[in-house]
Amino acid sequence: MAWCSSCQRYLTPATLTAEGACPACGRDVDHPDDRPAVAAERIPWHFWLLVAGAAVYLAWRAVQGVALLL
Ligand SMILES: [Zn+2]
Repeated sequence: MAWCSSCQRYLTPATLTAEGACPACGRDVDHPDDRPAVAAERIPWHFWLLVAGAAVYLAWRAVQGVALLL
């Protein structure tokens, strides 16, 4: 999502002009999503806690599944 600070509204990439400017006022818009570092910072820490928990659970279920075969 791009943000036009002069129009005070969000713009989808499809609505921007070919130059990447705001179609209403013609000014350059802010592209907060273009910076990967910002996107990485927005991932909350409890998301990784959930991922770690799912990994531990799946690993344990894999151990159980292998144990059934023995
Ligand atoms: Zn604008």
